Amino acid sequence: MVKMLAKQGHNVVTFDNLSTGNRYAVKWGEFVRGDLLNTTDLFRLFQDRHFDLVMHFSARSLASESVQNPSLYYRCNVVGTYNLLEAMRKRGVNKYIFSSSAAIFGNPVAESINEEHPKAPINPYGQTKLMIEQLLHDCSKAYELNTVSLRYFNAAGADSEGELGEDHNPETHLIPNILKTAKEKNSPSLKIFGEDYNTPDGTCVRDYTHVEDICNAYLKAINYLDENKGAHTFNIGNGKGISVKQVLNAAQEVVGEDITHQITDRRHGDPDVLVADSSKAREQLGWKPKYTDIKEIISTTWNWIN
Ligand code: UDP
Repeated sequence: MVKMLAKQGHNVVTFDNLSTGNRYAVKWGEFVRGDLLNTTDLFRLFQDRHFDLVMHFSARSLASESVQNPSLYYRCNVVGTYNLLEAMRKRGVNKYIFSSSAAIFGNPVAESINEEHPKAPINPYGQTKLMIEQLLHDCSKAYELNTVSLRYFNAAGADSEGELGEDHNPETHLIPNILKTAKEKNSPSLKIFGEDYNTPDGTCVRDYTHVEDICNAYLKAINYLDENKGAHTFNIGNGKGISVKQVLNAAQEVVGEDITHQITDRRHGDPDVLVADSSKAREQLGWKPKYTDIKEIISTTWNWIN
């Protein structure tokens, strides 16, 4: 996102505690190391700078970890966001774009999920994102805060120029794990978490959306906030459901060889199917994903890994 904003001529400041982020990835604009749970860090950040808008990406974001350690999630995500919004309010910064998640919906009751779909998270991670959306709704009414929450489905892929990509330790996400297994010949085989889900091949179905398409939704949201007051929500996804086994098959085609894998037990907190209906984003933000083929998305990650 910072790369894209810098290319468009914006001055960007990145604030991160580097608990899971990588300092090397911030190659554009200023970097400030700090923590949303430390109000002194936030005071200093806002004291010396003028901000037009805040994009908030940081969070604890692993559904299964949130089941095992919910306190960590409520503190980091809910308290962290509350602190950030308070710091913004004190300095009169009133535009905010929030990274929400498909996890707010829980197990879907419709084939694809639009903004009105019932919200019933099945893990604390989704619960924290839903609580924050409610906080934004109330704050926007009371304090003239203008917000867009982008509920993205599965962010995937890497920078198309191969300069940036997912780099977590340990890595938990499906596509990087598949490709690491392919790349590192001695790595333990890939685990597929459960094949007894209520889906055509028994593995979970997700909507994989390219990271650059998601960043484009943020650019659209900046313009949207110039014209629209209040708190707004958009579901951001390709609208195509792809199973874990289908992702594995596509990755094998990209890599050109078989990738060793084993079927294990389910992971905690995974819903069967999550597929977006992004009609509202298409109509109101003018957003349209460029990457619609899973093989193309996987290729950008393979390019980055190599
Ligand atoms: N998954 C898997 N093996 C892995 C990582 C993930 O089978 O090594 C499955 C996971 O259970 C889920 C899907 O792949 O059904 C996508 O998981 P990921 O962690 O990439 O994203 P999430 O859906 O949790 O945001």
